Amino acid sequence: MLVKAADQAPFGEAISSRLNELAALSDESGRLTRLYLSPAHRRATDLVAYWMRDAGMSVRVDSLASVVGRYQAADGGGKTLMLGSHIDSVRNAGRFDGPLGVVTAIEVVKAAFKTGKRFPFAIEVIAFGDEEGVRFASTLGGSRALAGTFDDKALEELDEKGISRAEALTAFGCDPSHVAAEARPPDRTLGYVEVHTEQGPVLEQEGLPVGIVTAIDGVTRAAIEVDGVAGHAGTVPMPMRKDALAAAAEMLLAIEARARARSNLVATVGKMEVPGSAANVIPGKARFTLDLRSPSDDERLTAIRDIRQTIATIADKRGVSVRFTVGHEVPAAICDARLSEELVHAVEALEIAPRRLPSGAGHDAMAFDKIIPFAMLFVRCRGGVSHNPDEFASPADIDVAARVLSTFLDRIGSQ
Ligand SMILES: [Zn+2]
Repeated sequence: MLVKAADQAPFGEAISSRLNELAALSDESGRLTRLYLSPAHRRATDLVAYWMRDAGMSVRVDSLASVVGRYQAADGGGKTLMLGSHIDSVRNAGRFDGPLGVVTAIEVVKAAFKTGKRFPFAIEVIAFGDEEGVRFASTLGGSRALAGTFDDKALEELDEKGISRAEALTAFGCDPSHVAAEARPPDRTLGYVEVHTEQGPVLEQEGLPVGIVTAIDGVTRAAIEVDGVAGHAGTVPMPMRKDALAAAAEMLLAIEARARARSNLVATVGKMEVPGSAANVIPGKARFTLDLRSPSDDERLTAIRDIRQTIATIADKRGVSVRFTVGHEVPAAICDARLSEELVHAVEALEIAPRRLPSGAGHDAMAFDKIIPFAMLFVRCRGGVSHNPDEFASPADIDVAARVLSTFLDRIGSQ
């Protein structure tokens, strides 16, 4: 007998088809761009709200334009478990980054609603609107509001047209003066769980559909400036040079080697500049950036200390001077052990090996760090590609994620 794909992965097919519907809502024709509080975000908000109501939830759009669908607990009371992700995107985005977590949560609640199932806790499915931070400088406003840590200064930030976040919110129909009231009481909140594409290649390489996130990496960003002596490319003998770019290159390779030596460290020199460079001039100055991440703050801080020392040694040896300026530092956000363990059990219940892995990218979940317990489930994505129209997660893998989430809810509910 012929079995249709939809029968094999009912969740996966339904979710994939809704992700395609959402992907059609774009601010630019021919590619997916859905910025915070834009016309496309408005339409996505309405569509998500419609899906939430169809899944038995009461819906409101909060003061920062997060869509909140509430599925009441069995007895109408109880604590609240939050599920969600974001529906804004980068420019020229893929279909899965963000919407996958929102739509998966809605479909799992819908399946419970259709069979009349209620849990001993309420579920809130939340579609955040400003995770990517493309329109305004700061990010995670929606999730920070729920954590009670939203900084009102962010309301004054201007987009490239000079419109403030507060003005854009008002035009969207929101009342930004009520942000403080969005904070969820930690003692009434079970946690926040987010399903998201991995945005990296690890699950694919290991042949696994899903993985459990251990922590969201802490980050150090730094700017490094090397000063040497500019000179004539023909007249200065090699041993007499103070070449800033050659020194920077050696520093870059030392950074790479330091990060390669550890499994829980990634370091990137993403930008290098040689001001006033010319083919026939020995570079007198070079600047580069460093982005270093780890799920362990100790690991990250030790690496930064080592790198600073190595860079100073290289500068000394080459007779150049170096300035190392730390730009910003964000500590790692550690996933809640109990919620993560329940995800592990839910994965094992599907006879899948429970791979634990850190998240090198930031997510709404990190806004809840040390305030409300959070956990994340990663879904394999093809080639590890993200922030790109080629982003893809298969209906079969999405189906696994939805079943894990569904099992997870049952497990939490039976405790
Ligand atoms: Zn995302």
